Amino acid sequence: MLTKRPRGTNDFLPEDTVKWQYVENMLRELCRQFGYEELRTPIFEETELFLRGVGDTTDIVQKEMYTFEDAGGRSVTLRPENTASAVRAYVENKMFAGAQPTKLFYIGPMFRYERPQAGRFRQFHQFGIECFGASSPAADAEIIVLAWEFYRRLGLRNLELNVNSVGCPECRPVYRKALQDFLRPNLDKLCGTCQERFEKNPLRILDCKNPECQHHLVGAPTTIDALCDDCREHFNAVLRHLDAVGIPYKINEKLVRGLDYYTNTAFEILLSDIGAQSAVCGGGRYNRLVEEIGGKPTPGVGFALGMERVFNALQAQGIELPIKPKIDVFVAALGAEASDVAFRLVTEMRRLGLAAEHDMMGRSLKAQFKYADKFNAAYTLVVGGDELSRGTVQLRDMKGSEQQEIPLDKAAEILAAKFAL
Ligand code: ATP
Ligand code: MG
Repeated sequence: MLTKRPRGTNDFLPEDTVKWQYVENMLRELCRQFGYEELRTPIFEETELFLRGVGDTTDIVQKEMYTFEDAGGRSVTLRPENTASAVRAYVENKMFAGAQPTKLFYIGPMFRYERPQAGRFRQFHQFGIECFGASSPAADAEIIVLAWEFYRRLGLRNLELNVNSVGCPECRPVYRKALQDFLRPNLDKLCGTCQERFEKNPLRILDCKNPECQHHLVGAPTTIDALCDDCREHFNAVLRHLDAVGIPYKINEKLVRGLDYYTNTAFEILLSDIGAQSAVCGGGRYNRLVEEIGGKPTPGVGFALGMERVFNALQAQGIELPIKPKIDVFVAALGAEASDVAFRLVTEMRRLGLAAEHDMMGRSLKAQFKYADKFNAAYTLVVGGDELSRGTVQLRDMKGSEQQEIPLDKAAEILAAKFAL
């Protein structure tokens, strides 16, 4: 073989893609119900967009971007996430000029140069939504409800929603200083990364996984204690909306997104069954991001969820998706004349909307039945022999194993009626 697929990427074979299509269709329908419309942006963007839109102190920008120079000497980057692109598209296409809010969803591949491991890939897929223009807490709650409803429809259990508020440009600097003052006496005992974060991005120290850092955070002031009145009211209103529709949550004061353009709500959905990579969805409010990317000040709120982790979780919880059988009707043919009739018959049935299949490998009738069994088709039509000379075919109901002679020229219609087409 010439070469293998790049490390950290996947081939999705038909037995996988049927599941992906099922889940994607479910997401599209969910978005329709919640009023989110699809946005498709390029897979690559000018590197500058992600430096600004993701933030140059983040792991993504510092370590994980697929950046290269194209033949024209421009620095471009394969998108590591889609929010920055969505904001760019919102501004560039003047979507702010229409009735607000602008409610968008996206689904597609993202690229991060990470160490591949279970649930962590270099090309992976995200579904996400962004709601631009609404600062109301109802918008924060709506996107959380959408994410929650998605996992609920899939039948996933043991979900945990964590929420927090990181405040606004009024109250966050006060909190930031309080946290720095609290940590300063032990600064030299924090891990190297946290020491680096101390000046630029101290809030991220809160979610450091290092036990030593966590030890020095015991008793630290919380973001919630520091919220200004408006931010506190916003946070309480988001929680009230979640209460009103029966969505349980845990307030997690260590859940932060450190960058300046994140404001108010931060949330994450965790799943306990899928090992170390337990975060399946993350999002929050970013009232300053549109401005950061060159638009007018515009509130925004959104989330992204990892598709691969959805499938991991489904597998871990033994959930089978109700995938339709691959074919509805198999047409078995005995002899060359019958094969020609079978070809016409499957075409007629396909035109009526059935999934119909026949043999193209010259199999014996017995082998055709065996092949048909594999597909789990509800019905088989048998063409050939005396029936063919009588202008009829045998219809077998594969579940009831009943057999019936039906007119050849009505066969397609009769089958279509059985599937209510
Ligand atoms: P993590 O802490 O797991 O690295 P993250 O904070 O980088 O996650 P986000 O950038 O918020 O994740 O992306 C949202 C979701 O995308 C994650 O919750 C996860 O489900 C998924 N995701 C992120 N990186 C990967 C990856 N390399 N492979 C597969 N899924 C991923
Ligand atoms: Mg990551």
